Amino acid sequence: MTQSRAAPIEYGAGQADEPAAPRRDLWRSIGRGLLMRCPHCGEGKLFAGFLTSVEACEVCHELIHHHRADDLPPYLTVFIVGHLVVALFMGVEEVTTLPLWAHLTIWIPVTLALSLVLLRPLKGGTIGLQWALRMHGFGGSPDGADH
Ligand SMILES: [Zn+2]
Repeated sequence: MTQSRAAPIEYGAGQADEPAAPRRDLWRSIGRGLLMRCPHCGEGKLFAGFLTSVEACEVCHELIHHHRADDLPPYLTVFIVGHLVVALFMGVEEVTTLPLWAHLTIWIPVTLALSLVLLRPLKGGTIGLQWALRMHGFGGSPDGADH
């Protein structure tokens, strides 16, 4: 009787003669991005402006321009801020009887401030995620060329 064994699956390998790309730590990369640092070295700045990412890391020269963060950072910001502000509003409404103008005076600035504070690190985290997963050119080939 013969037994057959399936070949082990090598994630990250392309062609048979191509070595597997080294694994990138997902959570470390996201963490570095959340701190607005290069997901590769953790030292170089990730942003040249408020939301404009650098072309490449000034420390390790890793190319950053491949990212396609697009709508994920604003989506995450709305999701987090919405849940926080609505929960806080409902909590305050439960224990006080503030008029509508007072609520607007409190929650509009809180919403704006939280959104501005969270948007940049969430974009950094998104870039870190895409870098770790070798998405959008971070794996060495442009979009659409690796399929
Ligand atoms: Zn770097």
